[in-house]
Amino acid sequence: MAQDDLFKKLIAHTKEYGYIFPSSEIYDGLSAVYDYGQYGVELKNNIKQFWWDAMVKMHENIVGLDSAIFMHPDIWKASGHVGAFNDPLIDNKDSKKRYRADDLVEEHIAKYQAKIDKDVEKGQNKFGDAFNKEQFLATNPNVLRNQEKINEITARLTKALTSDDLVELKQIIIDCEIADPISGSKNWTDVRQFNLMFETLLGSTADGASKIYLRPETAQGIFVNYLNVQKSGRMKIPFGIAQIGKAFRNEIVARQFIFRMREFEQMEMQFFVKPGTELEWFEHWKNLRIKWHKAMGLPEEKYRFHKHDKLAHYANAAFDIEFEFPFGFKELEGIHSRTDFDLKQHQEFSGKKLQFFDPESGESFIPYVVETSVGLDRTFLSVLSGAYYEEELKKENGESDTRVVLRIPPALAPIKLAVLPLIKKDGLPEKAREIIDELKFDFTCQYDEKDSIGRRYRRQDAIGTPYCITIDHDTLKDNMVTIRDRDTMVQERVLITNLAHIVDEKVNMKNLLKKIF
Ligand code: ATP
Repeated sequence: MAQDDLFKKLIAHTKEYGYIFPSSEIYDGLSAVYDYGQYGVELKNNIKQFWWDAMVKMHENIVGLDSAIFMHPDIWKASGHVGAFNDPLIDNKDSKKRYRADDLVEEHIAKYQAKIDKDVEKGQNKFGDAFNKEQFLATNPNVLRNQEKINEITARLTKALTSDDLVELKQIIIDCEIADPISGSKNWTDVRQFNLMFETLLGSTADGASKIYLRPETAQGIFVNYLNVQKSGRMKIPFGIAQIGKAFRNEIVARQFIFRMREFEQMEMQFFVKPGTELEWFEHWKNLRIKWHKAMGLPEEKYRFHKHDKLAHYANAAFDIEFEFPFGFKELEGIHSRTDFDLKQHQEFSGKKLQFFDPESGESFIPYVVETSVGLDRTFLSVLSGAYYEEELKKENGESDTRVVLRIPPALAPIKLAVLPLIKKDGLPEKAREIIDELKFDFTCQYDEKDSIGRRYRRQDAIGTPYCITIDHDTLKDNMVTIRDRDTMVQERVLITNLAHIVDEKVNMKNLLKKIF
């Protein structure tokens, strides 16, 4: 299926099956804001639990925090967000559309990369097993020409962004003859900086309200609390603080569904280490975090690392974990070695000492920080887009049929099992209820008696329910039910007393955690 089609279908599917709704839909929606429906909220909670368990439950030296969204406005001065949390924007004078100037250039670079990929594919098809990719990349004249273009434009872009050179940024767009993707026009305004923080007022105007910000990241709430946690929890370095919470950014171009929203959730863990050991810890967390993603069992080739060539002023190492969304490889998680920048800044701006005292060595120092920061909504989108399949099925009478199935990792699936009485009478619904009443303490169950059993199976496949349990007349005699597996569609007759064990084997969060630890 073309990736564009997949993306459109996925968006429609999430709405039809209660995963995601556009915010304020009856008022024509609110741009780049979404609501999570009845299944969406379950999946989201399960992803949060998987992350929290992998961080807090699995590590003796990591604890949680839930800091407020509103914070003292000076925090955002100290962190650099007031002065520099900007994106370079550019408008097209004909289409009146607004873009991030760096995105336009990056999309242009991606076109050269796509040409290289296409040439590689052609070579592979032509020469089969005899094809030597490395040699091809190193010698093919087309590839070399395109690679040279990529290197040249990337170097100019990196330099322009690092030096905040907005004039040069516009010049790159002109030199590359980049046109508005919608109208094709090359009639651009100058590039301007735009601060992404939302502002609001705290207190009544009469009392002299003060301007505060909606936090654009959860990390600062951790930094300003690190000594509270360290002292009250008697934490020794190295230790980590984990937090899940909302963040807000007034994104210039908020496209691509829940990939880039104005209100979103982050799962961040800041790990406080002894200066000089940060790069070792950085490697450690990089490896552990990709393991976390891969433990979900989506296709492994959909993940890759991306090294930052342009480091933020506070970082001495940075990698992204990228996922191949239907619109290409994009950032899912950032892993940054943030040095002591944030704590030092807060020490200076607050006037309070933020040093850690190490009783063993008798030294005091400001710890270095390694950060892992993953978007909850982007993880959600990675799970759904990696789990969405349209399958052709052969029916017994030879006709073909299709089903849409969400192969969501069973431990994360919103509903773990659906209990379906074959018909609505003869005591079958009562037996089904009895089973749910037994299992509901351990699993999120759903009862469904409407429509044919085949249609009910399709509905559960579309939601991603790992198991369907069917109650028939024999059940009343032999206490056995038919259990159907979502992925293989294999049906088996099992004793009701074995159900809890069978389902638990498949859906327990332990299954995911044990792949990592
Ligand atoms: P991008 O380059 O895509 O704007 P970023 O590098 O600014 O992202 P970070 O500041 O590193 O992102 O934030 C950490 C994580 O938060 C990202 O990896 C992403 O998963 C998530 N995130 C950031 N901005 C958004 C957004 N507008 N909508 C949804 N998730 C987001």
